[in-house]
Amino acid sequence: MKINKTLLCTLLLVPVLAISQPSVDLLIRHARIIDGTGNPWFYGDISIKAGRIREVSRHIDSAGAARIIDAHGLVAAPGFIDVHTHLEGGLFGGILGHPTADNFLFDGVTTAITGNCGGSQTDIAAFFHQLDSVKVSLNVATLIGHGSVREAVMGRDDRQPTPEETRRMEAMVEQGMRDGAVGLSTGLIYVPGTFAHTEEVVGLARAAARYHGVYASHIRNEESQVTQAVEEAINVGRMASMGVEISHFKVGGKANWGRSHETLALVEQARKEGIDVTIDQYPYTASSTNLGARLPSWAIAGTQDSIVSRISNPAIRKKIISGMLAEIRRYQFPDFSFAVVASYGADSTFNGKSITQINRLLGRRAGARQEAETILDMMVKGGAQMVYHSMNEKDVTYIMSYPFNMAASDAGVPVQGKGMPHPRAYGTNARILGRYVRELHVMGLEEAVRRMSSLPAQKFQLTDRGLLRPGYAADLVIFDPELVTDRATFENPHQFSTGFSYVLVNGQVVIEQGKHTGVRSGTPLYGPGYSH
Ligand SMILES: [Zn+2]
Repeated sequence: MKINKTLLCTLLLVPVLAISQPSVDLLIRHARIIDGTGNPWFYGDISIKAGRIREVSRHIDSAGAARIIDAHGLVAAPGFIDVHTHLEGGLFGGILGHPTADNFLFDGVTTAITGNCGGSQTDIAAFFHQLDSVKVSLNVATLIGHGSVREAVMGRDDRQPTPEETRRMEAMVEQGMRDGAVGLSTGLIYVPGTFAHTEEVVGLARAAARYHGVYASHIRNEESQVTQAVEEAINVGRMASMGVEISHFKVGGKANWGRSHETLALVEQARKEGIDVTIDQYPYTASSTNLGARLPSWAIAGTQDSIVSRISNPAIRKKIISGMLAEIRRYQFPDFSFAVVASYGADSTFNGKSITQINRLLGRRAGARQEAETILDMMVKGGAQMVYHSMNEKDVTYIMSYPFNMAASDAGVPVQGKGMPHPRAYGTNARILGRYVRELHVMGLEEAVRRMSSLPAQKFQLTDRGLLRPGYAADLVIFDPELVTDRATFENPHQFSTGFSYVLVNGQVVIEQGKHTGVRSGTPLYGPGYSH
């Protein structure tokens, strides 16, 4: 009787189970799966249900799948995490105004960490609320920026904070962490971050560390003082007992080419000491920032009015120019031809031209001194966003070979056709996979994927992303490693990367057969201190 009863139950249950077997939303079949750990690819299937990965295995039965993508011949990998972006807006447009973030999606990016270089929204809760109501195509995490906090409390003044101002800045950082920031960022070359002593940064880093945040820094100098600047960033981590991310790791200026061996040795030394330091990089020999970066920092303190009044005073102007010329002498650059305009509000015909070319166009005598005059005239008219060709390929490649280095575009969302932005906004990940993996063999494909997925997820504590694992968020990129290519160049930057056939964000297909579907399935990602 007992046996019969069991048999009966089994007979009844089997068909019931088959019917109620929950279907999956999407099944990816026959992919070469690179899971994000750095392990070698294997052939297999991936099923997705309700925005999450349900199963990853050699074979999954396709019965009941609402949709099947045949990924035969393609790699399926975790969606890329871009650890250094500027989505708040500014010259090239913010994500709230351009919510489909096409440049990132076409480059395989499914998550971006913004608020870098000391610049973020100071009200993190409001920022996340805006992202939630606009709905964007990317997942977004943010740092809270020291420069923005300092400006909110002390303006753009070149001075040290009072004890009361220090307390207010710390309170803002703590609030930002409770609202879900993943850490503190600094931009120690920019006004007003540059006016802060290390002690101030350590105090605010400690405030972020109380909520288990990371310290991400655009360090104080990336040229002749680069080793001191790397040491300062490491020291903040040491003093505040927290992880450090050194942003867009580089050595700029001809005089410093080759010094990446020194600076990476410092990172390795710090890791041996027990400080969790990692780095990120964009794969280009040019950087991009504002024109004001060419002036001594004291000259760009305060408002635009105060900058203009300094430049208009003949004695001060002379002093600024000698500071500018001293800098390029230190770089061992003969003139400002390494400086190319990305976007100049006062005259867009300057876009794409070097300062040397503009100087000539204006009918001025050739030479660095005259070019410095041209730069100051442009500063008076509101300044410009620039591209600086200041690095060398050997350093870029050496830094690229470092295993604890992540991919970072340092970009926002460019407005199509507007200005001549740095191509990194479009091509960072495709360029790493095409040029540095496929052509130059600086690293293997699995290693590159690891650095674009699980390494950044671990560093920024995005605990359910960066790996192809059951239960993880279904952020995926499906691509042909033989075809993936960055098409954006310095001369023609507004070009999307190609080769990413499908990009999924939280289980939804955002890039399909190389086209943006318009789907906006991204979500804000909250940091470890989030409490609401
Ligand atoms: Zn930066």
